[in-house]
Amino acid sequence: MTNTNYTEISHSDDCEKYVNQFIQDFQIRSAEIGRGTVIKRALPSRNKRMIGAWCFLDHAGPVTFPQGDGLDVGPHPHIGLQTFTWMIEGTMMHTDSIGSKQLIRPKQVNLMTAGHGISHTEVAPDSEIHMHAAQLWIALPDDKINIAPQFDHYPELPVVEQDNIEFTVLVGNFLETQSPVKVHSELLAVDLTAKESATTRIPLNPNYEYGFLALEGTANINGHELDDNNLVVLEPGLKEIEVQLHQGTRLLMLGGKPFESPILLWWNFVGRTQEELAIAREQWVNQDSRFGHIPDYDGPRLEAPAFPDKMRASK
Ligand code: MN
Repeated sequence: MTNTNYTEISHSDDCEKYVNQFIQDFQIRSAEIGRGTVIKRALPSRNKRMIGAWCFLDHAGPVTFPQGDGLDVGPHPHIGLQTFTWMIEGTMMHTDSIGSKQLIRPKQVNLMTAGHGISHTEVAPDSEIHMHAAQLWIALPDDKINIAPQFDHYPELPVVEQDNIEFTVLVGNFLETQSPVKVHSELLAVDLTAKESATTRIPLNPNYEYGFLALEGTANINGHELDDNNLVVLEPGLKEIEVQLHQGTRLLMLGGKPFESPILLWWNFVGRTQEELAIAREQWVNQDSRFGHIPDYDGPRLEAPAFPDKMRASK
């Protein structure tokens, strides 16, 4: 915000061209996660594997379904990551192998730290008919990959306003507002909501890369149109960016320092070597105590897919 050179050219075409060198615009793909629920998977993609430590990003819904027909994801394991849920509409019950049982409601965050290993279920209550959520994974850094599993529920996140846009600070520090959500890397997540059309300049950390995803409505990021079919990515180096939100728009802004090491992401696991992922798979198949047990789930555990011969590292 205080870069003099940048301010001098801030309203010229030159500036827009300059900023555009840092911007990439990727189409995102759809996937089905069961019971006809379609999600848009923005990360990882062929073009962009991670944004900081954010290594997985699903935009689920908005969807309306008959009572009793909501999402029901049976017991499955995780290692080496944190799962992060930002609920926009509807409710979901989280149950895990370390004894947590937590209903998540709109405007709340669930953060599950898998670390060395955990298993969990996610089930929509029988009375529920709506779902709209962002579900993300955060890769744990090398020295935290094996920490003890933990679950945290955040019922309320701080909100700050600027230029008629409401910013809910989900992770990290933004506009001098700190999120309580505990992560292990330099990381940012902000929900931007505008009831009416609004334009603002957003301060950026030049050491961070960023991604913008539209959860509702449409926006314009320095001339790049954003809707629910694309992800706009900013490479490190920028100090601010102009963002225009059209009426009734909600964006998810992610940021972070480019991740310290390449990761392997396979099924529900994040690791560094193929061997440790293969071991985790075997332990899940053999019902090893590493992943604990979820006592009151009525249904089968998810089966691990076959292990591939060769994996591609993400970064
Ligand atoms: Mn999961």
